[in-house]
Amino acid sequence: MDPRRIRRQQPSPANLHDSEISEGVYRAESEEKPSSVFQRPAIILSTFILILLPFILVLSNRSPSLETLCKAGRVVETAGYEAKAKQGSENGSLASSNITEGNFLQKNITKDILLGGLLVPGFDQGSCLSRYQSVLYRKESPHLPSPHLLERLRKQEALQKKCGPGTQLYKKAIEQLKSGNSTQTLECNYLVVLSYSGLGNKMLTLASAFIYAILTNRVLLIDRGAHIADLFCEPFPNTTWLLPWDFPIDHFSSIYKDDPRSYGKMLKDKVIGNEVNGATNGSLPPYVYLHLSHDYGDFDKLFYCEDDQRLLQKIPWLLLRSNQYFVPSLFLIPAYEEELNRLFPEKETAFHHLGRYLFHPTNSVWGMIVRSYQAYLAKADEIVGIQVRVFERGKTPFQHVLDQILACSLEEKVLPNVSLHEPVVSGTDSKSKVVLVTSLDSAYFEKIRSMYWEHSTATGEVIGVYQPSHEGFEQTGKEMHEMKAWAEIYLLSLTDMLVSSSWSTFGYVARGLGGLKPWIVSFKTADQMTNPPCRRAMSMDPCFHFPPFLDCKAKSYVDQGALVPYLKHCEDSGGLKLVDPVEQ
Ligand code: GDP
Repeated sequence: MDPRRIRRQQPSPANLHDSEISEGVYRAESEEKPSSVFQRPAIILSTFILILLPFILVLSNRSPSLETLCKAGRVVETAGYEAKAKQGSENGSLASSNITEGNFLQKNITKDILLGGLLVPGFDQGSCLSRYQSVLYRKESPHLPSPHLLERLRKQEALQKKCGPGTQLYKKAIEQLKSGNSTQTLECNYLVVLSYSGLGNKMLTLASAFIYAILTNRVLLIDRGAHIADLFCEPFPNTTWLLPWDFPIDHFSSIYKDDPRSYGKMLKDKVIGNEVNGATNGSLPPYVYLHLSHDYGDFDKLFYCEDDQRLLQKIPWLLLRSNQYFVPSLFLIPAYEEELNRLFPEKETAFHHLGRYLFHPTNSVWGMIVRSYQAYLAKADEIVGIQVRVFERGKTPFQHVLDQILACSLEEKVLPNVSLHEPVVSGTDSKSKVVLVTSLDSAYFEKIRSMYWEHSTATGEVIGVYQPSHEGFEQTGKEMHEMKAWAEIYLLSLTDMLVSSSWSTFGYVARGLGGLKPWIVSFKTADQMTNPPCRRAMSMDPCFHFPPFLDCKAKSYVDQGALVPYLKHCEDSGGLKLVDPVEQ
């Protein structure tokens, strides 16, 4: 995210067009002679069936087993793909469900569909195909979740079910919220995340809020704004994380940092006090609003202090707005430090595990991901992701961005050089790479594609270039736009190597989900190279752009990047990120 700008919908540029299929790809398909349709009926039929598959399954209202799905996947075999898998045990044993005899895209695989126990069996598979199918597309993570994390996830699932919308306990908590006071201690306490900002920022906030909910035994609920239900499947079994439509507080869009119920504002105005150990004089309200976004003030930042946490524990409803990945600073709150260390013995895997637990694309988004993958990525020996995100387009020349991206990719050998002298003619057994470009613009994709079409590579490798969409400008809140963004983030997470843009939470989510340490490219706002053009990420975990940098006892500034070995300043900003020191 860009700290210098407030997100707004930008006016539509004149040259924007709707086509989500990149021009080159589209042309290649449309130039196919019509007669070929009759020459290859098996391919056409199988592709057609594959495209319709998710819809057939959903419409038929069945709950197909993974085996059924993967059997259907064999249809693709005639078009050159293979997808055989056998459903693992669904007897509730968390770590034992495996896809065996897997042979996907000519690679032998034995995969754990429950991701090392992160996921539980028993969800209706047809209503969220991605949940148990992700293993067919994403490399198995070498990072296992800790037994303690698994235990806490199961506990949280039970809490979400016990206290979730529709239950008696939820009704009781709503009654108290309506009553306007919080004299009675409740069995269930809640954290409501208000919808805000671009998708990457939103996903980082949700993951942070989720771990905060776990740490504080709260039920996580999310405001339905910005098409959340169109993007993500329900993560918790037998309940919903969506805030019911009849939730009594209905003015979310106007709740911001100066709201009378803002925790920081109430502290500033001395409406409540954050005495030692969370003692307070006045009576407590049934809810407070936590403003944890990049523009928060000094009083809002007290959220990160232990005494304030004790006070907040007494308030049944917390409403939270953020656009930040605030997990790193939770480690600095003494009450949570030990628990977080047990949850994440490998610090840099925090988002990796939380993200793969929480974020499962809905069937519509999954369809987009699978279609892109099958058509453009599956056959390559290696997939390279290039994520281009330019925040200040007016001040960042196109050629500079392209030069930086290419200099980084070539110097770091992510992409091969082109041969400018003798053309190297690739043999039939040449290695193939596909470059997945994501950007709001199509021009970077066009240039890279032309480069590898007009010239052979020095290594003889064959390079294909693909960009799923070029939306022109950020259109947060528009359904199809958000779905494309999510599909592209997910596709980037499936790559083998990633080059991503500095400051971009879009790229942070992709690398976290994929367990990737990308090369991070920086752009200057003048036409000038930064040297080196990129840096390798220290860890896969996202950056907390605006940490509080607050010493809670002294009530003064402290450099939190110098306090503990596992918190460092980010590669691309002065923010904070989790790293595993031994690996450096
Ligand atoms: P950040 O601004 O890069 O930190 O990422 P966010 O995801 O928070 O906000 C940027 C928003 O712009 C995204 O959510 C998308 O709506 C849009 N966007 C930016 N880059 C791309 C891209 O490469 N592809 C698509 N489809 N949308 C993008």
